Amino acid sequence: MILDNECVFCKIISGELSSNKVYEDESVLAFEDANPQMPHHVLLIPKEHYASVADGVPEVLLGKLLAAAPKVAQICGIDQTGYRICINTGDDARQTVHHLHLHLLGGAKMPINMGAVD
Ligand code: 5GP
Ligand code: ZN
Repeated sequence: MILDNECVFCKIISGELSSNKVYEDESVLAFEDANPQMPHHVLLIPKEHYASVADGVPEVLLGKLLAAAPKVAQICGIDQTGYRICINTGDDARQTVHHLHLHLLGGAKMPINMGAVD
């Protein structure tokens, strides 16, 4: 498994940092965001380090990451009410953690102007 010693999400994968795990499979880990923007705010990450969605991520892994989102939504109990999936990429998008992650947000009606997460 390819991890980056300096990366906060790699430290969560290795167990060096703790997190509130919501879901895990062989390729994907999902855990609660430390600074939730909605009643449910979960981050889904690949278990290998890729800086962003533009970092040569294998298409199969991208598929596994996205396919995990409805499973996480079901675990959170928001699969019937709806949710938003968001991937910040690069500076203009205010990506702060440079390990590819999907934000999954729900649990209430999304604010009308909440197009992004920062
Ligand atoms: P970005 O702005 O890069 O798309 O989002 C990074 C997200 O990671 C933020 O929503 C932030 O709250 C979350 N985050 C940063 N560090 C940690 C951490 O150590 N643990 C958890 N659970 N979330 C974190
Ligand atoms: Zn990483």
